[in-house]
Amino acid sequence: MSPAKRLLPQQEKVGGENRGNLLDVQHLKMHFPIRTGILQRTTGSVKAVDDVSFTVKKGETLGIVGESGCGKSTLGRSLIRLYEPTGGKILFGGTDVTTLKERELGLVLRRNMQMVFQDPNASLNPRKSLGSILMEPLRVHGIMSNKEDRMDHIAEILQTVGLHPAVINNYPHEFSGGQRQRIGIARALILNPELIIADEAVSALDVSIQAQIVNLLEDLQKRFELTYIFISHDLSVVRHISDRVGVMYLGKLMELSDKESLYEEPLHPYTQSLLSAVPVIRKKGSIKRERIILEGDLPSPADPPEGCVFHTRCPYAMPQCKSEAPLFREAAPGRHVACHLFN
Ligand code: SF4
Repeated sequence: MSPAKRLLPQQEKVGGENRGNLLDVQHLKMHFPIRTGILQRTTGSVKAVDDVSFTVKKGETLGIVGESGCGKSTLGRSLIRLYEPTGGKILFGGTDVTTLKERELGLVLRRNMQMVFQDPNASLNPRKSLGSILMEPLRVHGIMSNKEDRMDHIAEILQTVGLHPAVINNYPHEFSGGQRQRIGIARALILNPELIIADEAVSALDVSIQAQIVNLLEDLQKRFELTYIFISHDLSVVRHISDRVGVMYLGKLMELSDKESLYEEPLHPYTQSLLSAVPVIRKKGSIKRERIILEGDLPSPADPPEGCVFHTRCPYAMPQCKSEAPLFREAAPGRHVACHLFN
């Protein structure tokens, strides 16, 4: 019996034994209306996520990187339907979760897809003990009928994330930042999900604690056959933990590739500029990367540029880039890029 099954035997896995795509996101859009005036008329929209497509294989870690405001956190929240997507499809284990009603959402999505947030302080109720915080999802989803079994399960989960079960009656403020993030992970893990979306999960932590949490996530992935979407602005952490990496800019995916190719030879001009800012220990004979400083500010997602959204800052922009949006295409085996240089 697999450790995952031992953790919560009655859980049904939507991905089953299929080793293919667990998640298939097709043309996902999340536009927020801009309302103005006394009548609150809709006068525009913020295109936080705009026509994003990708897949995630069972057991892999997909990193999503980009500057603050690029839409990566909105993407994560839309996947789990904390926001209602404006358009597109999210196929999870083959089921389109964008059309599910609340009850089915609980069964198919909320148990199998969980989120770990950046700020454990904000995501943990300060008035509830650790035991109550972890008991709640079990109660809401009707998992295990008696309290004793639930308490045993909570104790097991606490040990799994490196916390002593004796702290079960403590409150969030009695834990350190790293311990609170372990609680956030325990809460995500308690329903034995298949996919965990970690949104800037280590960004608020000291570097030494970051390493401990990243190691914990990696251990849990092996032990419970988890699939991760790891959202972060930190290119070094994403490089460490991910199998493939997607780069977002102004609500769109600019590039998606296996991490070795992306970090060694970025194709998209935006990826090149992002990576040029990351200090690297160069191997003998490797290419020295020139620092690329982008001109201008990040445009507003409420008024993105026509054509290629990156054209106002791209050092290689051509006339075509101002009027024609590049397609997100496979430029090399397993490497997708949205740029006319590769179309
Ligand atoms: Fe630059 Fe044009 Fe490519 Fe956009 S499509 S990244 S503007 S070269």
